[in-house]
Amino acid sequence: MNTEHNAMPESDTPPLAGLRAHFESGLTRDLSWRDQQLGQLEAMLKDHEAQIASALAHDLDKPEQEVFLGELALLYSEIKYARRHLKSWAKPRRVRTPLVGQPGKSAVVPEPRGVVLIIGAWNYPIQLIVGPLIPAIAAGNAAVLKPSEVATETAKLVAALIPAYLDERAFAVVTGAVEETTALLAQRFDHIFYTGGGEVGKVVMAAAAKHLTPVTLELGGKSPCLVDDTADIPSAARRIIWGKCLNAGQTCIAPDYVLVTRHARAPLISAMGKELERMYGDDRLTSADYCKIINERHFDRLLGYLNEGEIAIGGRSDRERLKIEPTILTDVPDNAPILKEEIFGPLLPVMSIDSIDHGISQIRSGDKPLAAYLFSTDPHHQTRFTDQVSAGNMCINDVLMFMSVPELPFGGVGGSGMGQYHGRAGFNELSHLKAVMTRGRFPETWIRFAPYSALKTRLLKLFG
Ligand code: NAD
Repeated sequence: MNTEHNAMPESDTPPLAGLRAHFESGLTRDLSWRDQQLGQLEAMLKDHEAQIASALAHDLDKPEQEVFLGELALLYSEIKYARRHLKSWAKPRRVRTPLVGQPGKSAVVPEPRGVVLIIGAWNYPIQLIVGPLIPAIAAGNAAVLKPSEVATETAKLVAALIPAYLDERAFAVVTGAVEETTALLAQRFDHIFYTGGGEVGKVVMAAAAKHLTPVTLELGGKSPCLVDDTADIPSAARRIIWGKCLNAGQTCIAPDYVLVTRHARAPLISAMGKELERMYGDDRLTSADYCKIINERHFDRLLGYLNEGEIAIGGRSDRERLKIEPTILTDVPDNAPILKEEIFGPLLPVMSIDSIDHGISQIRSGDKPLAAYLFSTDPHHQTRFTDQVSAGNMCINDVLMFMSVPELPFGGVGGSGMGQYHGRAGFNELSHLKAVMTRGRFPETWIRFAPYSALKTRLLKLFG
């Protein structure tokens, strides 16, 4: 199984050195081993739902239902889907061989990349480590996991659970912050799967470039939400508020800001106020269904945005408990930082637009977003939006819900990232799809060999 060209780089240090040796031994290639590891991953989550909920309550004050909805449900569905399809994904896929290649057959043969480094972010700290680990296992890789140090309790839990459930010959957790991640990035991995902000994304990509290591970058950005005159306003308000308030807005695909046509603006804001009341009651700062901001740095960053517009709804905060009310801002000047930077918190600027085309051109003038949302019942508007807006992922008449479809690839485009995962997309991302052609020996196709002739050229043009 060992191949010279994959020999262990001299610079490898533990845990990479050990994992690479076991990868080279062929351990991770066995399909039943992969299936068993995926089963172990599911058992790990199932056996420790209560501990996971309690770590997330500590780090983010995450309500139990959000733990299930935002972290576990997606992972259970991804594990189940990967186990069901593993055999067919891993099988060589025959493709047609043209006449010029006859006699012969051709196939796409997936092979694991090797040892994958998975670096997670703090906002969904279980999902963003286990989520990429699922396709890493399914594709037959070994992996080093680096949970975010910012979600402290969850990082500790991940470090304790992974070695207790998964094969330690193939998987290791490294905890720590910038220093530890920098040390990992200095080594030669076979793929790096990073989730987090774009600035660190550039650091990761630059480190990967030194070894020509491929990267998947799951970044963030400003995900717009466009609401037009034809939208079902109560439904739009309910869904936008849900998507914005989940995890207190600390969701990479949360609606970052709203663009609404003038007629729909007042009804939308009023309906959003009603939905906030219905979902979180009068005193949203004490609602048990509402998360806190991860730390003081982010709390202060978010409070800094509050005076950049008129506060239509909300605006209160509680520093001791790191809570900020869901807040709707209007009349925000075009050059305000809240309209330039990813908000990543429960503040929602609402801006008026003249028409759907005006909204589309505003979206197109910025970086390509991770997600884009349109609320409209007009099929022509829906088509215009899907045709003209480039975004990693899109939802018409809802937010976030594309995450629930395993066959939809997830990932950014342009400034919001590169590469995709979930379902088969994740398997392909963490595999090398090797092209293999097997030629028969007879009959020989003489036309490609020298000496060349006018007849051979004519035949090539005809059949090639
Ligand atoms: P973070 O601070 O947890 O950092 C992410 C990871 O990078 C951590 O593991 C951290 O240790 C490491 N890191 C930080 N600085 C580093 C450095 N200088 N060198 C090397 N490694 C370093 O998370 P964050 O960046 O605050 O995450 C929030 C961002 O992530 C937002 O922009 C959000 O939109 C994005 N995000 C994207 C997705 C997605 O799936 N596309 C999901 C969640 C979050």
